[in-house]
Amino acid sequence: MREETVSHDITVVGGGLAGVCAAVAAARLGRTVALVGNRPVLGGNSSSEVRVWVCGATGHGKNHHAREGGIMGELLVENQYRNPLGNPYLWDTTVLDAVRAEPGISLYLNTDVRLVDAGESGISSVTGWMMGSERLITFESPLFLDCTGDGLVGHLAGARYRIGREGRAEYGEPWAPDEPDDITLGSTLLFYTKDAGSRSATSRRASPRTSPPPPSPSGASSRPVTTAAPTGGSSSAASWTPCTTTTASGTSCGRSCTASGTTSRTPASSTPTR
Ligand SMILES: Cc1cc2nc3c(=O)[nH]c(=O)nc-3n(C[C@H](O)[C@H](O)[C@H](O)COP(=O)(O)OP(=O)(O)OC[C@H]3O[C@@H](n4cnc5c(N)ncnc54)[C@H](O)[C@@H]3O)c2cc1C
Repeated sequence: MREETVSHDITVVGGGLAGVCAAVAAARLGRTVALVGNRPVLGGNSSSEVRVWVCGATGHGKNHHAREGGIMGELLVENQYRNPLGNPYLWDTTVLDAVRAEPGISLYLNTDVRLVDAGESGISSVTGWMMGSERLITFESPLFLDCTGDGLVGHLAGARYRIGREGRAEYGEPWAPDEPDDITLGSTLLFYTKDAGSRSATSRRASPRTSPPPPSPSGASSRPVTTAAPTGGSSSAASWTPCTTTTASGTSCGRSCTASGTTSRTPASSTPTR
């Protein structure tokens, strides 16, 4: 095991989109940044590991002209250009490249922050264990950003916090409940469903068997992924063929992919569920 201490202007704990945007913003303002995430990929809930859509502003299409702006907007536009089919693994690379484009950011992946050194004057350091390389790294900086998604750093530092929803009167928010409560997000799983058409018993017997892929880490696909005609959801059952594309991790590619000259698309009827 190697113990080391590093110093930056800002330490960002959590490599989700909040952490990525904060780190990129700080770097563009000329600050040196340690971006520390405990997963092997950036993006947090939006990464290929979880695959939550990034569509808060659109309200799933209800707010037709609303979009996330700023650095988040940059990422979305870049991803539309590089990854028009919305492959989750390519989204990972869009986010990673945005971070790597900033020389001021030092990226620490697979590094789980568990220790926080905090006193009356605030946090002086946090310490994380980099899995796989056996490095115990202490991050020092005058400023720490808790982007863990769960407020872990604040909790470990002894900060006061609340859980649940505030009452409407507190901030005058029209959609808030009348009274405060302790309700939090009800689901922690996200899965996609895909209308893969139907096959008659006869054609099922006649067609060669395909082995189902192992469950993907996100549980996104529990049966062989099929490809649709490029026209999207209007394809007939006969045009569906098993997709043999596999990812580096050996799992099915998920909702869409391009490989070996084969293009698969998510049918228009695919339904994100959350
Ligand atoms: C099932 C589900 C569905 C959702 N659907 C939508 C949706 O449709 N549209 C929408 O806009 N929002 C949706 N959300 C909410 C959205 O995912 C979150 O608001 C958003 O991900 C928050 O981003 P974040 O960067 O703050 O946190 P996260 O995405 O949670 O990222 C936090 C990162 O910090 C890392 N981390 C945590 N602890 C540590 C530690 N100790 N050390 C190092 N790293 C750490 C985590 O591994 C993670 O990578 C959904 C959330 C869930 C759970």
